[in-house]
Amino acid sequence: MFKKISSVLISSCLLSACITSPTGRSQFIVMPDTQINQMGLQAFDTLKKEKPASTNNQYNQLASCISQAITQELGGVWEVVVFEDKSPNAFALPGNKIGIYTGMLTLVDNQDQLAAVIGHEVGHVLAKHSNERASQEMAVNQGMAMVQAISSPQSALGQTAFGLLGVGAEYGILMPYSRVQESEADIIGVDLMAKAGFDPRQSIALWQKMEQASQGQQPVEFLSTHPAHASRIQNLEQHMPQAMDLYQQAQAAGKKPGCK
Ligand SMILES: [Zn+2]
Repeated sequence: MFKKISSVLISSCLLSACITSPTGRSQFIVMPDTQINQMGLQAFDTLKKEKPASTNNQYNQLASCISQAITQELGGVWEVVVFEDKSPNAFALPGNKIGIYTGMLTLVDNQDQLAAVIGHEVGHVLAKHSNERASQEMAVNQGMAMVQAISSPQSALGQTAFGLLGVGAEYGILMPYSRVQESEADIIGVDLMAKAGFDPRQSIALWQKMEQASQGQQPVEFLSTHPAHASRIQNLEQHMPQAMDLYQQAQAAGKKPGCK
């Protein structure tokens, strides 16, 4: 029995390619992080060239205040851009980039809901989900070609690369994160927002709101890459006692972001 399990583990996870995600899950990762980060940086550059940044001061202040509180928990330098686009969408890219569409800012009710979005997106980056997707779908020797292709997003490989990063809709390709990756980003995100002093209960309100918005005429692009599984809210509720502990500790330490 034991022997069988270990041989399965080895065949699905080549020894050197096996790493553990922040939630303790075993992952198959073969692409060098440097290449995935380069892809993220290049994709962000391309998006900045094609999509106007918002000139709304209030939006920019709110987005950078919340992102700063959250990324302070992680360290490193993160760039945040608010893009002028009415669809409720947001993303984070390897290489420490965060993009928020004005449509997301008009959808959320408060700082905590936007913190839930940013926390979730950063959760995908921290758990190397783009690398995991690339490792599953591409051969290692295609890595450099993908880095190059991302500067020509109309090409087939460029489109795939954007899709793997979760920002493919711009170029006609949408690759939904898996159920496992979504749950993982939820847990990492909700803990992260709580540690930064945002009310983690608002993550549940956010997903309910998102689902409500998708009942309308327009499909919500955010939900096509981040499919809302029926169990999402249940999982978040189950995890809430731990997140509330982190939130109370943050409050006690004086972390009370008042982002407006
Ligand atoms: Zn997601």
